[in-house]
Amino acid sequence: MDPSDSDSLDRRTFLQRAAAGAVAVTSSAEIHAQEHEHQLVPSDPALRAKALESLLVDKGLVDPAALDALVDTFQNKVGPRNGAQVVARAWVDPDYKRRLLEDGTAAMAELGFSGNQGEKLTVVENTRAIHNVIVCTLCSCYPWPLLGLPPAWYKSDAYRSRTVIDPRGVLRELGLEVPENVEVRVWDSNAASRYLVLPERPEGTESLAEQDLAALVTRDAMIGVAKVVQPGVASP
Ligand code: FE
Repeated sequence: MDPSDSDSLDRRTFLQRAAAGAVAVTSSAEIHAQEHEHQLVPSDPALRAKALESLLVDKGLVDPAALDALVDTFQNKVGPRNGAQVVARAWVDPDYKRRLLEDGTAAMAELGFSGNQGEKLTVVENTRAIHNVIVCTLCSCYPWPLLGLPPAWYKSDAYRSRTVIDPRGVLRELGLEVPENVEVRVWDSNAASRYLVLPERPEGTESLAEQDLAALVTRDAMIGVAKVVQPGVASP
């Protein structure tokens, strides 16, 4: 690229050209790329976030350590593995399950989980007769301490509006067919109350230890758009 052209290039064109260059470099170093899955030019949103972060830090408006703590929280401390631990404990300990269904917030605190967006947790149990699914029709309320941040589809207009109108249709599109003789209950989250689905424990898991059970529990099962299945066993 002729340097004299650079002033007339808008930022997006520059990024596209830079990305194309990065691809060429990557393909010429295939082995290296396979060993290290990365791209040389960050995505546009990542660049924007970096620029914003630099500006805020430079102006003394945020403490980099506070940002690191925030990132660490969402990368390592909250997420669906927390919810899976709660579910597995409820499956192996009937007393814990009773407490969980009575007061979700207190029961998750027993396992060390609490915090922002988890102040009022209600746990709803899936059974052979009842299938629960959670949604936030207003925005994207979600039990952060147990599930982390919500997936993009949970925040989509389509999921938020259609789940309350046609839950069986939405579940079917997400790959879950709920039999007609099973009642579907939709729980609309809000800022004051958030929900977690306690999925059914899959058959054939009687001999599994608590941590092995936790490994089977998925985020989607705790939202209620999937069932927990044992690997190699077809969903009923
Ligand atoms: Fe919301």
